Amino acid sequence: MSTYTVINPATAAPVKEIAMADLAMTDATIAKAQKAFESWRLVSPGDRARLLRNFARVVDEHIEELAQLEVQNSGHTIGNARWEAGNVRDVLNYYSAAPERLFGRQIPVPNGIDITFKEPLGVIGVIVPWNFPMPIAGWGFAPAIAAGNTVVLKPAELTPMTAIRLGELATEAGIPDGVFNVIPGKGSIVGERFVTHPTVRKVVFTGSTTVGKGIMRGCADQVKRLTLELGGKSANIIFADADIEKAAAGAPGSVFDNAGQDCCARSRILVQRSVLDSFMEKFEVAVKKFRVESPDLDTSEMGPLISAGQFDRVMEYLPDSANVAFTGTKPSGPGYWMAPTVLLATSTADRAYREEIFGPVVSVLPFEDEADAIRLANDSEYGLSGSIWSRDIGRAVRVSRGVEAGNISVNSHSSVRYWTPFGGYKQSGLGRELGPDALDAFTETKNVFFDTNS
Ligand code: NAD
Repeated sequence: MSTYTVINPATAAPVKEIAMADLAMTDATIAKAQKAFESWRLVSPGDRARLLRNFARVVDEHIEELAQLEVQNSGHTIGNARWEAGNVRDVLNYYSAAPERLFGRQIPVPNGIDITFKEPLGVIGVIVPWNFPMPIAGWGFAPAIAAGNTVVLKPAELTPMTAIRLGELATEAGIPDGVFNVIPGKGSIVGERFVTHPTVRKVVFTGSTTVGKGIMRGCADQVKRLTLELGGKSANIIFADADIEKAAAGAPGSVFDNAGQDCCARSRILVQRSVLDSFMEKFEVAVKKFRVESPDLDTSEMGPLISAGQFDRVMEYLPDSANVAFTGTKPSGPGYWMAPTVLLATSTADRAYREEIFGPVVSVLPFEDEADAIRLANDSEYGLSGSIWSRDIGRAVRVSRGVEAGNISVNSHSSVRYWTPFGGYKQSGLGRELGPDALDAFTETKNVFFDTNS
């Protein structure tokens, strides 16, 4: 069996050896999940709900431990990591209400009664990226098991530690053996097997657009159900009538949070030309104040990049000729540290302006008017999220309707609330996670007609 050495990105020191599943182990885990499905789907709705609430409670009792693991494994700031562990708890609690409310419909038809049922799919394969190991895992497994499915979950190679611990906590909470299985391993082996194995009835994939397209092609062979959450290059649009002070103060967090390794990062800032200078002045102050420091400090706002490889990939976008407006700070010493960097785009064709960098780099571009702002925001293959800053309500409504993205925030930067749907337009994905409708993505609608004439 091969192993992978987890590295602490803040220090570059090894943390732990993790065993990586091979094909035989993957197949055995899928078979175990299939066996568990036969009984899990029959557990009464009230009992399933209780088990999910137990799971949420046990996660709650381990928030600090999970958060510390994430700091060590992923370099997330401790503040973020606590929020992420709390998000797993909250999402479990939210979907614990689902088993008892998985309603079908009674539809009026002639000569009988027609009822729809929401049936579970079977074994669900959840493939998770390294940037938010806990929340993204929870958005997949919580609604999946709530709806009566069983789950095989593959964390990213780089960040398996919290997923493994969540698997153990599920057992501690009384979730029956085989219902929630965590198998660390390579994408090309374990992840790929979720796609090709006929027992896995759905794949939930979050990751890069390139790998997502391959998975979509693979799933086509079996018409396998699929949810994709992919990349982004979201726009932060700042109109002249906005509270520029507030927009500038919020902009660093909207793109440099998690060191920019966030699919929702607002990595294109579009500013109305008449306020460009005033915005840039205030933005520079905010970026220089943004605290890039050891992630275990409560004051830390940004930690390191996840790996040496990611550091090199991000640096490719910053050649000597890069049009750097200003940068923030970073600590010296070992670890994959990078200072937040603000570029002035010279054209919409700039690589750094167009491509998802997944690092602490943002490009700023001026626009002329509302139509220009919408046109520029939509000039991207992606459409995941975005922000609009304006005091004009009509404009905020028009622009939020005009921007082709799944998650827009007005005069704020948040994209993810577990009560509301999350997902992308265009090449940012397919389907939606979270919110009241997520159960639809984990069930088939079965229609049954009862003849009342016989
Ligand atoms: P990645 O695509 O390299 O890997 C994601 C996961 O897929 C990992 O677990 C990996 O092991 C697995 N994988 C790799 N090759 C595979 C294959 N052939 N078959 C099956 N599984 C395979 O992405 P990453 O570098 O881990 O994550 C960063 C990307 O994720 C970024 O592009 C980011 O935008 C995206 N992302 C999107 C969202 C969203 O919700 N839209 C959220 C977080 C991250």
